[in-house]
Amino acid sequence: MDLALTPAQAAFRDEVRAFLGEALPDHLRRGAGLTSGVFAEPDIAREWQAILEAQGWLVYHWPRAAGGPGWTPIQRWIFEKECAEAGTPVLPFMGLKLIGPVLCHFGTEAQKAEYLPKLRSGEHFWAQGFSEPGSGSDLASLRTRAVRDGDVYVVTGQKIWTTQAQFANRLFCLVRTDPEAKPQRGISFLLIDMASPGVTVRPILSASGDHELNEVFLDDARVPVANRVGDEGQGWTIAKFLLDNERGGSAFGPQLVADLARLRAAAGAFEGELAPRATRLALEAEALEMTELRTLIEVEAGLQPGPRSLITKLVASEIRQGIDELAVDAFGLAALQLPVERPFYRSDMPAPVGSPDARIAAARYLNSRAWSIFGGTSEIQLTVIAKQAVGL
Ligand SMILES: Cc1cc2nc3c(=O)[nH]c(=O)nc-3n(C[C@H](O)[C@H](O)[C@H](O)COP(=O)(O)OP(=O)(O)OC[C@H]3O[C@@H](n4cnc5c(N)ncnc54)[C@H](O)[C@@H]3O)c2cc1C
Repeated sequence: MDLALTPAQAAFRDEVRAFLGEALPDHLRRGAGLTSGVFAEPDIAREWQAILEAQGWLVYHWPRAAGGPGWTPIQRWIFEKECAEAGTPVLPFMGLKLIGPVLCHFGTEAQKAEYLPKLRSGEHFWAQGFSEPGSGSDLASLRTRAVRDGDVYVVTGQKIWTTQAQFANRLFCLVRTDPEAKPQRGISFLLIDMASPGVTVRPILSASGDHELNEVFLDDARVPVANRVGDEGQGWTIAKFLLDNERGGSAFGPQLVADLARLRAAAGAFEGELAPRATRLALEAEALEMTELRTLIEVEAGLQPGPRSLITKLVASEIRQGIDELAVDAFGLAALQLPVERPFYRSDMPAPVGSPDARIAAARYLNSRAWSIFGGTSEIQLTVIAKQAVGL
């Protein structure tokens, strides 16, 4: 297998690199570098989203018919690697990567016409309403009820860990429409306007000081039947399609390689026991990058990706946490000066005093504990690997 880029792929990489060199403003790069959460804050994300949309590269994982640029999987990977190296803001993917492709695939023409342009323009900001108290790993046990009343569903229940719901004006949601059916068969997929009466968002503050997560309460919220995606009872099939996009297809390796290089540049030479830890993490991140690339080469060749594609999220979580732990140890006491005011990374605010990398390290360390939980916990990933890859 040849892991070198073809001349056409190298030309594409150069085009992307030149664009990022021109189009990524310093304040967005700085804001991205000072983000401790998974996604950039909306003021940063919106600006970067508009720049990518103007270039025609925003919805690069959508089908060409829906406005995607028609890139191959390897072109998408090259784009993500270049973005990671340039330090672009990480855009919230609930809209662009999760509900967008779902609507392209399962939406009615009316839903596509209503939602896709507003998603691209940023008018609609989406949150993901899947998890509930008691229904995370065991998602099929979810209890939020949707009862049909003429042209609407009356929705009652609670969602939790809803990322950036405080900024969202739309929620895609799994609800139980048939409590008598088998758990998976009784679930439907609804699009909810967050401004509907009966929808309440309450913050959950993380140990890192970030406000990324929320509870969403639905109390007799009335949702038009026209906002159901797919048939009644098809929600689980749609959720599986969406979760495959959430868990796979991301270039984790390049982001980790780039973040470790930035840490090395900011923290100086790693000394003592930090040096072998840094080397090990660098090798693991590069190995993950190669694993992802090999999988994509197989996909482009029309082959089924092998079982190694199952390990990427698990391995990426371990490396992510290792890098953020290394950062805290490398910066030492400087990492413990959590900024008094948060968020301090907004583009309209002055840079924090002292090394920004050191000031963000502790928040990042605390925040990245979540990597082994969201998008499927590491224990669940290990079970899937044991069953599907090892055949246990
Ligand atoms: C930062 C963050 C952002 C999130 N964003 C969203 C969002 O936007 N929208 C959304 O819907 N959800 C979101 N989630 C929720 C996430 O999907 C769930 O937290 C996750 O699926 C785990 O579910 P749980 O929290 O209910 O934990 P549980 O499922 O209760 O798990 C608790 C512990 O038990 C272990 N466990 C559970 N079942 C098994 C098993 N069968 N075998 C072995 N071990 C098991 C787990 O691995 C874990 O260690 C987010 C979570 C986090 C941390």
